[in-house]
Amino acid sequence: MMESKQTRFYESVNRNFNKAAEFTSIPKGLLEQIRVCNSVYQMKFPVKIGNQYEVIEAYRVQHSHHRLPTKGGIRFSHLVNQEEVMALASLMTYKCAIVDVPFGGAKGGVKVSPRKYNALQLEKITRRYTTELIRKNFIGPGLDVPAPDYGTGAREMAWILDTYSTFNHGEIDAAACVTGKPENQSGIRGRTEATGRGVYYAIRQMLSYEEDCKALGIEPGLEGKTMVIQGLGNVGSYTGMISQDEGGASVIGVSEIEGTIYSPEGIDIQQLLNYRKDKGTIIGFPGSKKLDVREDWVKIPCDILVPAALESQIHKGNAKSVKAKVIAEAANGPITADAEEILLKKGILIIPDMYANAGGVTVSYFEWLKNLSHMRFGRMEKRFQHNSLYAIVSMVERLTGTTIGDREKDLLTKGAEEIDLVRSGLEDTMVTSYHNIREVMKRRKKIHDLRTAAFVNALDKIANDYIRLGIFP
Ligand code: NAD
Repeated sequence: MMESKQTRFYESVNRNFNKAAEFTSIPKGLLEQIRVCNSVYQMKFPVKIGNQYEVIEAYRVQHSHHRLPTKGGIRFSHLVNQEEVMALASLMTYKCAIVDVPFGGAKGGVKVSPRKYNALQLEKITRRYTTELIRKNFIGPGLDVPAPDYGTGAREMAWILDTYSTFNHGEIDAAACVTGKPENQSGIRGRTEATGRGVYYAIRQMLSYEEDCKALGIEPGLEGKTMVIQGLGNVGSYTGMISQDEGGASVIGVSEIEGTIYSPEGIDIQQLLNYRKDKGTIIGFPGSKKLDVREDWVKIPCDILVPAALESQIHKGNAKSVKAKVIAEAANGPITADAEEILLKKGILIIPDMYANAGGVTVSYFEWLKNLSHMRFGRMEKRFQHNSLYAIVSMVERLTGTTIGDREKDLLTKGAEEIDLVRSGLEDTMVTSYHNIREVMKRRKKIHDLRTAAFVNALDKIANDYIRLGIFP
């Protein structure tokens, strides 16, 4: 029997888990407790669409309660099913551990294709789903905190907050019940770009190690490297834009639902987004040519391949055709466990999802903290920093007898705004976490891939948490 992509996804996560577990000394029972999904809530609810009622299938899975709240996005897709949500929730637990975000993992899924509904209908579906979560205590600032994922964004998060607040009138921390909200509705600056920006920091960090680049036969640094991206949604577009604008990479291929385009001269992602908004397709973008087969994006020779759409996109059937040196898993689970074996044999370096796309949950953590503190980051220290720096610059002027221009002075004496602190916290998290994962690989000679190293890093931290809780003394 042919297995569905989703079955392979959950199986792949567990296969990777088992592979890593062998490198730890965690007792068997504890390993099993870490691996399984603690709570799986499947729901069906009616929503009136036009003149008819549709019964919507949806899920919320809390993978691990070793830390609370649990945390993970909500996916809107016609492909959603229980195993997919379980796989995604499991990955969230490991992801949070890797980047030291003190949450358990969770994920939500609503089996709808957002393209089929107008905004009003999507609002009805989102609000109804939230009500189901409230009824079963599957949402709350200290319980379970959703965020955006495939097919959802800040708009849906605003509807979730509004619904939650209506049912929990007067709850002072209500805004922390969901993250990824619009900036003017208790959100945080830099959340929308966070996952893509994190992927950029991950790639940049990987390419900063001379010895690792040498082993791959490439020069260190992102400048001038070629990149191919699958999926021009939230994660894919920000990864592309930031890698171009801040890293000097050249995006030579982009794959979307309507097809794949290629241009050896490079595709400006911002211009491509404008073009797609205008024409409704990426096909025909000036200077690019369309590939005959959409799935052939994997075959384009490039330095870095960025799957940023859905799981199981690189599988046993196409892994041999990959010509990239590095694959950065912006999406969750884009490579099946079978494909990974082939890719590793080919000497391709994989930056694993549970680290590469952890920028989203990292900045969600900052947003949650901001909501609980009821204060914008930087409010207390911005003016103090500015005044201190201004005093130093003025002293340098006095002592040297020179005058620094107004623009330079403004730059030198700027106090940190919320966006500066968010980006700084995100960059530090991605740099430190990469270093930690790489160290695991260096220390344990038998570990040859970053995914296993990342898993070992996560499992050790989670096991320690369980032991500290006294559950497994
Ligand atoms: P999104 O809905 O904003 O974008 C996904 C894009 O992929 C869409 O434009 C869609 O048309 C395209 N796509 C779907 N199937 C495709 C195919 N077969 N070929 C080419 N393009 C295809 O979703 P997103 O939020 O960017 O999420 C993408 C991936 O990143 C998912 O795996 C998600 O779980 C993961 N992720 C997202 C976040 C986040 O903060 N949004 C955080 C961590 C991980």
